[in-house]
Amino acid sequence: MSLSEGSIFYGNSEIQFSVCYVKRKTLEISVHPNNGVVIRAPVKADLMKIRKIILKRAKWIIKQQVYFGQFSPRTPARQYISGETHLYLGKQYRLRIEESNIDSVKLTRGYLKVQVKSEASPDKVKKVIDKWYSEKAVLKIREILDECWRYFEEMNLGKPKLQIRKMKTRWGSLSHRETLTLNSNLVKAPKECIEYVIIHELCHLTYHNHSTGFYDLLEKILPNWEKIKHKLEVKMA
Ligand SMILES: [Zn+2]
Repeated sequence: MSLSEGSIFYGNSEIQFSVCYVKRKTLEISVHPNNGVVIRAPVKADLMKIRKIILKRAKWIIKQQVYFGQFSPRTPARQYISGETHLYLGKQYRLRIEESNIDSVKLTRGYLKVQVKSEASPDKVKKVIDKWYSEKAVLKIREILDECWRYFEEMNLGKPKLQIRKMKTRWGSLSHRETLTLNSNLVKAPKECIEYVIIHELCHLTYHNHSTGFYDLLEKILPNWEKIKHKLEVKMA
């Protein structure tokens, strides 16, 4: 089975999808509770044609996504109150909120200690934590990318530009072999999972698709990638 990923725009909505090429005659679209759109397509199906069909079904896909969005996600929504846990690099930290004369976030001995100026409302706490996460995402993910780049250094490839942003359904993507976009939420995942996502995307510098060559390269660099991928799915569900 091979896989490819893509996205289309329908009005203002971006529909991100993955295509599994399987032995079948017709194309099947399914929307999963985590909002992922999976296309099962015949082995020889042409991607342009697939995109056209997705566009035709876009209204239905979005309706499904809205429908699933009504249910609480598998990870309970954070309420930003003391005692609940938050993830950083795969570890759980218990939130401890304090009022102070500065806004700050610190990780100490199992605690995510958040100090906020003025009234510590959940909204305010969320803002402070979100800002901290995005700053950490930029620092950590870049650091890990630099480490992972070692595997690719000798392959005579241009190092892609890094862009970190929130993404709804994907951990990463590589566009035109020059911009590597990574989901800022990755900073909550274990380091090896971040490495896996980065290495997967960097393998696309050489192989544009998910061909055998692609998986051979991925496996050469990261022999246990499947296990790590599974861990990412379980941890971050
Ligand atoms: Zn890929």
